Amino acid sequence: MSVLIKSGRIITAADDYVGDVFIENGTVSLLGESLDMSADKVIDAAGKYVIPGAIDPHTHIEMFFGGTTTCDDFTSGTVSAAFGGTTTLIDFCMQTPGDTFAQALEKYFKKIDRCKPVIDVASTSRHRPAHGRHARGPRENCPPRASRSYKLVMAYKGAVMVDDDTLFRTMETAADTGALVMVHAENGDAIDIIVKRAVAEGKTAPIWHARTRADGDRSRGDEPRRPARAGRRVPAVRRPRLVPALCRADRARAREGVGRLGRDLHAVPVHRRDGRSTSRASRARSTSTPPPPRPKEHQEMLWKALESDVLSVVSTDHCPFKWPEQKGINGDEFQVIPNGGPGIENRLHMLHHFGVREGRISMNRFVELVSTNVAKRFGKYNYFKPKLVEDVL
Ligand SMILES: [Zn+2]
Repeated sequence: MSVLIKSGRIITAADDYVGDVFIENGTVSLLGESLDMSADKVIDAAGKYVIPGAIDPHTHIEMFFGGTTTCDDFTSGTVSAAFGGTTTLIDFCMQTPGDTFAQALEKYFKKIDRCKPVIDVASTSRHRPAHGRHARGPRENCPPRASRSYKLVMAYKGAVMVDDDTLFRTMETAADTGALVMVHAENGDAIDIIVKRAVAEGKTAPIWHARTRADGDRSRGDEPRRPARAGRRVPAVRRPRLVPALCRADRARAREGVGRLGRDLHAVPVHRRDGRSTSRASRARSTSTPPPPRPKEHQEMLWKALESDVLSVVSTDHCPFKWPEQKGINGDEFQVIPNGGPGIENRLHMLHHFGVREGRISMNRFVELVSTNVAKRFGKYNYFKPKLVEDVL
């Protein structure tokens, strides 16, 4: 099967020109101007972008969390992703207590086999706190298809929050094996105290999810430094780390500080609504997810961080629950509302509309943020060079 894409505006992280792409059996075999080849299928792309397929490195498909399961399976989630221009998901394989990594992966692949994805799917293994014989981290029992990236959560104390032992051992293993570590860098200990205090005072409306992680709160002083702390905690371990789910300006500054320390740490902003939308209880419940929406003034700083490569990847943290039956499954109290929101279909068009069309970033930078930089971090192709099997959008 061969495909010739004619006269498109070919854009990579480095190039921007009008040309043709010839694809043979899934491999980009030739790029150039006025290619004169016969092909099984010819696509006229005049006036259209032709870019490497986009990769979303942070999604939660069919994941059990907060007493319910996210409402996209691998078919519906990947169809939505494809409509939004995303051709690869990097989802999370969750390790439940008592499972080895091999068992966790086996369960994960069963979900994928049951509901076939329409695009490529990869996974990051998400670790539980150290327990029992698996406390040594992922080095043992890793099957051949094991992940090359791991996620650690420094929030949700008593549930998925990892201790320093797990944090250290996982980063150590990643350093030994060339894997990437993603860290959800909130101050789980401080938030736990603040949440319990709020609940004891009867402050349980959905808006308190944001307020217990808000500016002016006692968690504030520490939260911005958390990514830096995660980076510093294992000074001997030199591997790239990724901080997902970032939506406040001072976190971006903390990332900058880590950069000065010489660590390779990449923050991933997530698009959120204007924080003022949390003033309505129903909206607060629908946007109940860490980090909560921040005031609008944080957005400009985050755009600047994206422009200057303080931030280098944009993901969605797609974690969909149906409204109201799933979001309200445990009641209306903020501490029991399943955390998460959708977005898998909206990443490219939002970044294009608010970033490219409003003059904040170039199309080259757009391609870098949704595709090339993600590919580099996770060891995938997507450089749009001949002889590579890759997706074309
Ligand atoms: Zn997430």
